[in-house]
Amino acid sequence: MRRVTIFGATGSIGENTVDLIARAPERYDVVGLTGGRNVARLAEQAKALQADIAVTAFEACHEDLKAALAGTGIETAAGTQAIEELAARPTDWVMSAIVGAAGLVPGLAALKQGTTLALANKESLVTAGSLLLNEAKRHGATVLPVDSEHSAVFQALVGEDINRVERVIITASGGAFRDWPVEKLAEATLAQASSHPNWDMGQRITIDSATLFNKAMELIETKEFFGVGPDKIEAIIHPESLVHALVGFNDGALMAHIGPHDMRHAIGYALNWPERGHLPVERLDLAKIATLNFKQADPARYPALELAQFVMERGGLAGAVFNAAKEAALDLFIAEKIGFLDMARIVDKVLNALDGQGALACDALTLDKVQDADHLARQMAHDVAT
Ligand code: NDP
Repeated sequence: MRRVTIFGATGSIGENTVDLIARAPERYDVVGLTGGRNVARLAEQAKALQADIAVTAFEACHEDLKAALAGTGIETAAGTQAIEELAARPTDWVMSAIVGAAGLVPGLAALKQGTTLALANKESLVTAGSLLLNEAKRHGATVLPVDSEHSAVFQALVGEDINRVERVIITASGGAFRDWPVEKLAEATLAQASSHPNWDMGQRITIDSATLFNKAMELIETKEFFGVGPDKIEAIIHPESLVHALVGFNDGALMAHIGPHDMRHAIGYALNWPERGHLPVERLDLAKIATLNFKQADPARYPALELAQFVMERGGLAGAVFNAAKEAALDLFIAEKIGFLDMARIVDKVLNALDGQGALACDALTLDKVQDADHLARQMAHDVAT
C-alpha cells in the first residue's frame, strides 16, 4: 500500500486527486486530507477514503468538521500549524494543491521526510523555487510537476539532455477575453473573468487565466523547475488547449505533448511515476479535432507576460513580490474594488518600486526572506491601489 496525503483536497486539483485514489482503494493508504472552509466535503472525502486525519486550515471551521466526522474514528485538527504537523506524518506521496502562498510551508515541511511531492501549487516555485528544490535535494525528496504544462515538459524531457534544449514553449488558451477588442478589456467584469473557455478550475486560477497571470506564473515555474534560461522560454496562444507544451531541441525537433482538458492526466502521471498507469481520461480523436491553432501572444493584451520576463531576469525575491502583489490585486478585483486592467498595473508598480529600492536582490532565498517580501508586496499593492 502506498501512503498518500493530499493538501487542498477540497479544491479542483484535490477533487481530481481524490477521484483517482478512490478508483483504486486497494493501492492507497490515505494518511491525511486538508481543506479550508468546505468542511462538509472534506468530511465526505475523509470517510470515502478512510483517511487517518482530516485537517481544516481554519480554526473557526473545526467544530463543524468534528461534528461531521463524529463516531467515524477519523481524527480532526485545524489551523496552519496542524497542516504543517500533518506534513511531518510519514507518507510516500504528497499532493500539494493548496491555493496561493499558503501552499509553500506544508510543501517544504513534507520534503523534510524525503517524500515525493506532486506539486500543483504554482506559488511554491514562483516565490521560492530555489529554496524548495534545494530542500528537496538536501532530504533526498522528489518533486514532480502537476501543472499540465510542466508535466508536459517533464514528459517531453524523459531520456533527454536538458543542455540540448533550445526552447520551451508553454501554450496558453488566451483566457476568457482572448477574442475581445483590447480597448474593451477595462470593462471586463468579475463574472466574465471567472468563466474559462476550456477548463473547469477554481475561481482564482480562472481569473489568472483571463489576465494571463497564470501563464506568467508558469513561465517563471519553467525557469525555476527545469533551470532553463528566460531567453529560451516563451508562451504562445493555442485556443484549443490540447497541446500543453512543446520542447525544442538543438537538432530542430519539437516534442509536443497533446492531451485532453483533464487534470487527472497530469495528476495521474505524478501518481504513477516513474511508470505510466491506466487513466480514466478521454482518448483524443485527432481526425475529429482536425485543426490546432497557434498565434503569438499580444503583449498589449497580456502585460502579465512582460512582467514574468522581468521577474525571471531579476530572480531573487522578484517571484515572491510578483506573486504577493498579484494575489493582493486579485483579492481586490474579486472584492470588485479595482478593475480588470488594474491588476497588472498594480503588480507592475510594486515590482518597479521595490526594484528601485534594491529590495528584489537576494543571493540565497530563505523562508523568512520570502515571507517578508510577500508581506511587504501585499501591503504595497494595497497602498498603490488606493
Ligand atoms: P481551489 O481554489 O479549487 O482549491 C484550493 C484548495 O486550498 C481547497 O482545498 C481550499 O479549501 C484550500 N485552501 C484555501 N485557502 C486555504 C488556506 N489559506 N490554507 C490552506 N488551504 C486553503 O484551487 P485549485 O485546485 O484550482 O488550485 C490549487 C493549486 O493548484 C493552485 O496553486 C493552482 O494555481 C494550482 N493549479 C491548479 C490547476 C487547476 O486546474 N485547477 C492547474 C494547475 C495548477 P476549501 O475549498 O475547502 O476552502
